[in-house]
Amino acid sequence: MKVMIEEGCIACGLCTATCPEVFAFGDDGLACVIASVEKENENEVKTAAENCPVSVIEYEE
Ligand code: SF4
Repeated sequence: MKVMIEEGCIACGLCTATCPEVFAFGDDGLACVIASVEKENENEVKTAAENCPVSVIEYEE
């Protein structure tokens, strides 16, 4: 699975709390992808993408 964060993050912290193995806040204060998605994290990444309040997390299976 590939995941990316488009422009528009409002730094709510949902994705970093849901899957800290993949998402973290960068120096700019916005969420970024810090690691490739391992199998065991795929469901958490999908959950984060579905619940991001501004729908900026995109993923490909
Ligand atoms: S869930 Fe969306 S808005 Fe919230 S920190 Fe992650 S990318 Fe940003």
